[in-house]
Amino acid sequence: MNFEYLLARTELLFGEGVLENIGDKVSKIGSKSLLVTGKTSMSRLGFLDKTEGVLKKAGMEVVRYGGVEPNPTVGTVNRGAKLALEHNCDVVVGLGGGSAMDTAKAIAVLTGHWKDGVTSIWSFSSLSEEKKVVTSRTLPIVAITSTSGTGSHVTKYAVFTNDKTLAKPGIGSEFMYPRLSVVDLDIVSTMPPVVTATTGFDVLAHAMESIISTACNPISQLYALEAIRMVYKYLGRAYTKGDDREAREKMALADTYAGWAIAVSPPELPHAMSHPISGYYPDISHGMALAIVTPGVICLNIEKGHADILKKYSLIAQNMGKSVSASHTKEDALQAVRAVKELRKRVDLDTTLSKLGVTEDKIQDIAGDVLTRNRGAWKNNPVRADRKEIGELLRQCY
Ligand code: NDP
Ligand code: MN
Repeated sequence: MNFEYLLARTELLFGEGVLENIGDKVSKIGSKSLLVTGKTSMSRLGFLDKTEGVLKKAGMEVVRYGGVEPNPTVGTVNRGAKLALEHNCDVVVGLGGGSAMDTAKAIAVLTGHWKDGVTSIWSFSSLSEEKKVVTSRTLPIVAITSTSGTGSHVTKYAVFTNDKTLAKPGIGSEFMYPRLSVVDLDIVSTMPPVVTATTGFDVLAHAMESIISTACNPISQLYALEAIRMVYKYLGRAYTKGDDREAREKMALADTYAGWAIAVSPPELPHAMSHPISGYYPDISHGMALAIVTPGVICLNIEKGHADILKKYSLIAQNMGKSVSASHTKEDALQAVRAVKELRKRVDLDTTLSKLGVTEDKIQDIAGDVLTRNRGAWKNNPVRADRKEIGELLRQCY
């Protein structure tokens, strides 16, 4: 067995009230920070002021960049980088969900490369003709997560939508790992039920997909299986009772484990399908799109996959409370579909594309994007699915 494993240089601060402790650490990384956040949640809940206060107390200057939308766009990243340059920021802090953290990471990339004549983050996308490479000139990144979640606080990725074409690719580089990653349980415990459910499903999807991915390795699989076990046990609790601190802590840990898993073993077909859905329909959250498409992909993989795939899905089912036989049959593997559907129902994510406003004529565009604009994740699926099959999968969840 051959594999590569990069241990990222990310310091993780995890626990209740840890936001208080970031001042000294961030001020060692830079002196002027761009503080990137979403629309209203972090300012309404007081965490934006608190973060700014902690940084200023440590002697830092802070420039705010708020209003990042869910499923952020290239324009949002580019405007943020301009602001960072105008103010000579030397560190970018993201406070919020994956959207704010990804935007912070992408701003750090673009700001660091502006002197090379690059003025749009799009230039770094594999879909761009320029195909710029992310280098060590990327500004240092601090990621404070408010969801559990995308794992973005510990991954090397950022995902953004092209304002014109609505393509939603991701970029990734070892230079995009946050230097400091902050999981404050006081922050993630404020998620309302629907955000808890959708982002929690994302954790499950990361963990499962990193195992099924052709890029799986034994170390990431260890993290991923434990993440699945925790999501199965605690997501329902965090959803129905937001002040269940144990459930919040376990979901935050599962988010981090699953993030570490996808950082080295990137996701496969469900992510490739979810990105164009949220690209064309930004109001459909990333986790919601995943909840809709995941069971169909598992069925396809089991139907067409080899013994190794059946074994992996059986292991996943086992970590979601199902009893499976030692021979890991197709029937055992299919228990994973049942477990995922049951969990999806428990957190009220049991919906369809049509109910969320997707029009039938868009199905072909979404299926086409999977093979073109989101080809990287498509390729990681162990079973080759062509455009027709993907269209069929989408129609099944219509
Ligand atoms: P978002 O960051 O998009 O946030 C979703 C909504 O939840 C927003 O309306 C936000 O409000 C609100 N919200 C967030 N945190 C809280 C909180 N603690 N309390 C109350 N409201 C809150 O959600 P995700 O975290 O799911 O991020 C999704 C994005 O991340 C997608 O673009 C996805 O593609 C990407 N992603 C990135 C990965 C990576 O490795 N980099 C991996 C997987 C997904 P407000 O705007 O007001 O803050
Ligand atoms: Mn995801």
